Formats: sequence, structure tokens, C-alpha cells
Amino acid sequence: MRSRDIERLVRQLQERKKQIEYNIQEATRELADLAEAEINDEGDYAANSTEVMIDSSITRQQVQELREIEYALNKATSGDYGPCEMCGEPVGIERLRVKPHAKYCIVCRESFEKNGH
Ligand SMILES: [Zn+2]
Repeated sequence: MRSRDIERLVRQLQERKKQIEYNIQEATRELADLAEAEINDEGDYAANSTEVMIDSSITRQQVQELREIEYALNKATSGDYGPCEMCGEPVGIERLRVKPHAKYCIVCRESFEKNGH
């Protein structure tokens, strides 16, 4: 892969990382507000609990993605960014443009999903 392509993908990763960090911060603040509201108003307890559950599952996803992005950024720093971690073939620039933190090429990803992992 050309270094210019890698640079562009790294910038994309850094932008996404910032966005996710912001989202998590916001979600955490909302959760804190909800927790406070629950103490103050017993009547809304059930509704708030449902919202908290939805929020925390979104947050879990974001934390997971953030980890994958940081991992990809580390690989870019050490020069390991680009090849599939399963078969060693290039992941492919088109795939990386859509998902710059992809670890596997599309072939490995699909056989992964078929096997239920
Ligand atoms: Zn592969």
C-alpha cells in the first residue's frame, strides 16, 4: 500500500477516534444525569432504567470500536498496517476506506462470520 494511502487512512482513524471519545463522554454524562434523576424521582425509575440499558450497550460498542481503532493506529506506527491478520494478504484499500480499522480481508471476514465467530 502506498504511504499516502496509509496517511489518509490514519487521519480517518484519528478523526473517528476523536468522534467516539466525544460520544462516550456525552453518553457517560447522560448516564450520570439519569442516575441522579432516578434518585430524585422514583416514578420514572422504569423508563430511566431502560434508557440506561440502551445507552450502555451503545457505549460498549463504541468502546470496542475505539479499542480496534487504537490497535490499528499502533499497527500504522509500527509499520504493520495493511495486511490481513489471518492470511497475510492485503486487506485492500477499498475495504480499508470503508472500515480503516479492519483486521481481516473480506474473504477471511466472511469465513469468520460463516463459522459463527
Ligand atoms: Zn485474509
